[in-house]
Amino acid sequence: MIKVTIWNEFLHEKTEEKIKAIYPDGIHMTIAEFLGKNDDFVIRTATLDDPDCGLPQSVLDDTDVLIWWGHMAHHRVPDEVAARVQSSVLRGMGLIVLHSAHMSKPFTRLIGTSGTLKWRDGDKERIWCCNPGHPIAEGVPEQFVLDPEEMYGEYFDIPQPDELVFISWFKGGEVFRSGVTFRRGYGKIFYFRPGHEGNPSYHNENVQKVITNAVRWAKPIKRIDELVAPMTEALE
Ligand code: ZN
Repeated sequence: MIKVTIWNEFLHEKTEEKIKAIYPDGIHMTIAEFLGKNDDFVIRTATLDDPDCGLPQSVLDDTDVLIWWGHMAHHRVPDEVAARVQSSVLRGMGLIVLHSAHMSKPFTRLIGTSGTLKWRDGDKERIWCCNPGHPIAEGVPEQFVLDPEEMYGEYFDIPQPDELVFISWFKGGEVFRSGVTFRRGYGKIFYFRPGHEGNPSYHNENVQKVITNAVRWAKPIKRIDELVAPMTEALE
């Protein structure tokens, strides 16, 4: 079984009718619904307004893969929660970072750069797979379209990714590294671009396939309880 925790800021969906119409119970519940079709996934959700952001250490210790969606309230995530997520990833937990979480505290702490990019609402996106042998691309077509979607453009201020799985083209002319992987410590991280709150992208079957594959990919191989640097005796 793979234990998945879906964290959503869950603010837009409560205050804006247009967004509530797309995600009536919140982006996290839409993601929970399609991931829940996998019999080997155990799903939990957490939001910003839950006590401790719904992410006490006990929840993170019981999470194989954490999914993160945030946008307007990155600053409201306490540093101690972000540090807890960072430490859990370094000790083996998988992390999937979606759309505007490119500037979330857990992601920027883990990658060490700003995560800044260019953006423009209301464009057309064509997502190309540039790594068809990658587990995250399994069953995903060579390319698919999201229209409308928000444009994200380069330069995307991330470190050189370990793997580039998807790139996006936008009608306005920009391109973007849309699906990238990083390894930090014992943990695996996948950033995936789509999912502006005003567009129904998490209802798209290919977006759902990518996120489902990413959960399987990011599942820990090995987890450790503590990050230690012990003095060690010579073996010989
Ligand atoms: Zn957005």
